[in-house]
Amino acid sequence: MAEVILPGRTIGILGGGQLGRMFAIAARRMGYRVHAFDPTQDCPTGQVADHETNAQYDDQAAAMEFAKAVDVVTFEFENVPAETLSTIEQIVPVHPSPFVLDTCRHREREKNFLSKRGFPVAPYRVVKSVDDLRAGVKALGTPCILKTADYGYDGKGQVDIKDGTDLDEAFRAMGRPVGVLEGFVRFDKEISVIVARSEASGTVTFPVAENEHANHILDVTIAPANVSEKVAHDAAILAIEVAESLKLIGVLAVEMFLVGEKIIINELAPRPHNSGHFSFDACVTSQFEQQLRAVCGLPLGDPMLLRPAAMANLLGDLWQGGEPNWQAALHSDERIKLHLYGKQGAKPGRKMGHLTAMAETTEEAKQLVLAAREALKRQ
Ligand code: AMP
Repeated sequence: MAEVILPGRTIGILGGGQLGRMFAIAARRMGYRVHAFDPTQDCPTGQVADHETNAQYDDQAAAMEFAKAVDVVTFEFENVPAETLSTIEQIVPVHPSPFVLDTCRHREREKNFLSKRGFPVAPYRVVKSVDDLRAGVKALGTPCILKTADYGYDGKGQVDIKDGTDLDEAFRAMGRPVGVLEGFVRFDKEISVIVARSEASGTVTFPVAENEHANHILDVTIAPANVSEKVAHDAAILAIEVAESLKLIGVLAVEMFLVGEKIIINELAPRPHNSGHFSFDACVTSQFEQQLRAVCGLPLGDPMLLRPAAMANLLGDLWQGGEPNWQAALHSDERIKLHLYGKQGAKPGRKMGHLTAMAETTEEAKQLVLAAREALKRQ
């Protein structure tokens, strides 16, 4: 058993975005100190942490100083160089392990890991050249999707391939040396399960969430998902099995496609996830507190959903006409909860915050967050 890290001690977090910020809020609430590592000064996590180190992720000297100042390290940003993780790991424990991070952040390794263990994934081919791409398109048929193996998120580095698409151009457009070509899944729904695993408690899953994307970016989540009991059960079991086969210590989001009652795993993220933000307001224990408990070796909390809930993302696009009308959104209904991440610079597509609501039904909760988001646009 690893050492238990008790309140009062310091948690280091690599990455300073909104996931780290909500983690830091959960950690400070329980009396922990938080030290964020991010290249940008006054980052969303740094604003609520006790300490902030501003250095590049490949700055080994800074990573060593950071590691010496904390009791355990977790992350919210996946693209931390392997060398930095190993520098840190020689000084303090890192959870989830660098192996988990390395597997989940690279689509080729992720898909190979899942398919070798018999988990359901879309048919895929690894693509390292235009010739690989031609062979892959021939094998999988069109439509299909070329995705970068690494550094891809929110649809970045994804190229839709249809009949007649110029494959030389598609390979260039991917913009990275290695990609994964996936067969197009004609899904009925997108769902996700967030699973937490700790040495003290084993695995615990959050209720299945149902996700709608716009332009490849998560737009709205409802929980619980509108799926059969069988699908909800199967989805939770799949997430637990993946977490166990990774020997996860922490939180893992498993994004899935639903085709009828059949589940296909799309992607893994070894950290809290946008589709679990509802848990911050709507569950007994949030995904952020669960991450804290797992990495500190504490028992996991109850993930029970208090009421049907919905979450709507607030992207930078909403700032195009000036500051959004916060009052109008909060006036729209007293059940609306506003979360803003403290980011400077509202670019289109950038996640700036989210709204959550709980109601009698998920449909009602969804209507509340959508109406509040519309109200933000009022002059
Ligand atoms: P990803 O970055 O892999 O999570 O993809 C972002 C979004 O693109 C997903 O949530 C889906 O809406 C869509 N997408 C990704 N892969 C596929 C696929 N193989 N078939 C159909 N849609 C996909």
